[in-house]
Amino acid sequence: MNKKAPTGLPRRSFLGISAATVAGTALGASAKPIGLSSSQPAAIASGNGLAAVERAFELMSGGTDPLIAAVRGVEINENDPDDMTVGYGGLPNEDGVVQLDASVMHGPTHKAGAVASIEGIKNPAAVALEVMRRTDHCLIVGEGAKRFALDLGFEEENLLTGKARRAWLRWRDNLNPRDDRLDKDQLVIPVSDDDGQPIGALDQSPGFHVDWIEGVPHTTGTIHCGAVNSDGDVGACTTTSGLSYKIPGRVGDSPIIGAGMYCDNEVGSAGATGRGEAVIQSCGSFLAVRKMEEGMTPEEACLFVLRHIAARTKRRDLLNGRGEPNFNVTMYALRKDGMVGSACMRPGGSFAHATPEGSGVDKSTPVFS
Ligand code: ASP
Repeated sequence: MNKKAPTGLPRRSFLGISAATVAGTALGASAKPIGLSSSQPAAIASGNGLAAVERAFELMSGGTDPLIAAVRGVEINENDPDDMTVGYGGLPNEDGVVQLDASVMHGPTHKAGAVASIEGIKNPAAVALEVMRRTDHCLIVGEGAKRFALDLGFEEENLLTGKARRAWLRWRDNLNPRDDRLDKDQLVIPVSDDDGQPIGALDQSPGFHVDWIEGVPHTTGTIHCGAVNSDGDVGACTTTSGLSYKIPGRVGDSPIIGAGMYCDNEVGSAGATGRGEAVIQSCGSFLAVRKMEEGMTPEEACLFVLRHIAARTKRRDLLNGRGEPNFNVTMYALRKDGMVGSACMRPGGSFAHATPEGSGVDKSTPVFS
């Protein structure tokens, strides 16, 4: 699909038909031999982040710091009401309140910042950036994070869109088959079909993973973006509305430095989407960066982390009949020289990438089929 990207970057691929795939390599978008001395700029994101990597890449080409470029990239998704996995329009917690998590890390200074369970502010990655820039802290949560953002001039907004509210109402009404809320087909006078989107259709939305827990869909989705410029400086961020219908105050991996995002200017960066609890318990992004430091390619490092998570998943309800994790996690990694790669626990993960050769979206390599 060699469509021209709006930014002027040629789009090399869309879902699995990259030049790298055609050439028969499994290394992802910008595969190059390990030990290559010269760097090339690159950006990687979760599969919902094609526009984000294109913006990040373009900004870096104009001299913008890679972390700021990544944060500006993910803002596209944070501001998009149709991306129900982050920012404005994100799916709410079990009370119907949108609570957002985000983290950032800057390679050259090795500083990190994060916010968790922040309400009413649609760009939590930019707030996390200010935590990093303006404070000696790494993580500010809840009401304190919101006050910190408001003091800096971030605007308070209602982040719950009608579409997200209807999805939440459907979830709530289907929680207990024996409650007094009638199912749609039992209504005495039929009502119009909301926006006509059944819960299952969320499965198809970009960036979503749906884990069915006892018949109830729990939707996760996030955007991670890592970027490296031509000087080899790295920045990374992850932003999310987290697990849909979560217990109020639940915090996933996205704002946890080393879990949902990590970067080390000597090596590269990594990020995660999917079941955050699994990623936290294995320090997923930190582990991926350390494995790249030991010489693994980005894709190998992602696969290592996922196998590590799989081997440590003990709860029976999280395993299928073959003893494999029944949930998805997708890892994304970027090496300082511009090589990118991604892997997922189960098929379905994808990653967006932008390099001097162009931009595209490819399938992540699954651990289990
Ligand atoms: N990892 C995020 C969390 O657990 C959700 C996701 O990426 O889908 O909050």
